[in-house]
Amino acid sequence: MSHSSTVLSALPSLHASTRRLAVDAHDVSKVYGEGAVAYQALRGVDFQVRQGELVMLAGPSGSGKTTLLSILGCVLRPSGGDISLFGQRITDVSDAVLPAVRLRYIGFVFQGHNLLASLSARENVALAMQLRGVPGKLAFKEADLLLERVGLGSKKGSLPGELSGGQRQRVAIARAVAGNPPLILADEPTAALDATAGLLVTELLRDVCRERGDTVVIVTHDARIFHLADRIVRIEDGQIARGASL
Ligand code: ADP
Ligand code: MG
Repeated sequence: MSHSSTVLSALPSLHASTRRLAVDAHDVSKVYGEGAVAYQALRGVDFQVRQGELVMLAGPSGSGKTTLLSILGCVLRPSGGDISLFGQRITDVSDAVLPAVRLRYIGFVFQGHNLLASLSARENVALAMQLRGVPGKLAFKEADLLLERVGLGSKKGSLPGELSGGQRQRVAIARAVAGNPPLILADEPTAALDATAGLLVTELLRDVCRERGDTVVIVTHDARIFHLADRIVRIEDGQIARGASL
């Protein structure tokens, strides 16, 4: 490799390290229930993600992965700690405003695709876009483009039940990025897929988000997709494991 190309390839990471944090979670705790049945699912979690980074959050079942992802995704309140998304503190945002924060910042991909069964692929994607403020006609046009990008140009009119598991997750990726939320959160997105489909779907998620400059957090214990991460963070018993990178 020539000296100049070495210098050039070093530039993006230098830039990334100086960029604003997409996720900045500090000392986050979560207690489910009260009194004798109280259970502490998160114990003082510090977790940061730079803009444009793809981080995988790995750990055994019950370690608190979904709890942390739900808190970052503004669907669950922490019991303590501080969270900022893109430099904006969300910890004190009122219940009334939180859904708007979620719509603005977050796209979700779930383990089960969670698509609306009675809507076609393009209707599912367009609906997400409309919820994020894109007007009707444009939403359908953009939905078509996104479905083409995820390789489903010929399946736009299909219902979820007419698609394979991998195809449904492709629709779910298109829906997650529809309307341009800058942070994509995925909870075990490959759990219902075979190895090949899981790898393809995760590669697609990475590539689509990279093109758009999105930040991605994927909860997974699927070792077959670990190599697609920029960084892997382990969580154990509600805490970030020491020597956090695998
Ligand atoms: P993971 O996604 O890593 O499997 P979770 O975040 O779903 O773990 O759960 C962490 C712990 O919190 C588990 O012990 C789980 O049983 C508990 N938990 C999760 N959700 C609730 C809830 N709504 N009420 C009580 N306990 C819960
Ligand atoms: Mg989980």
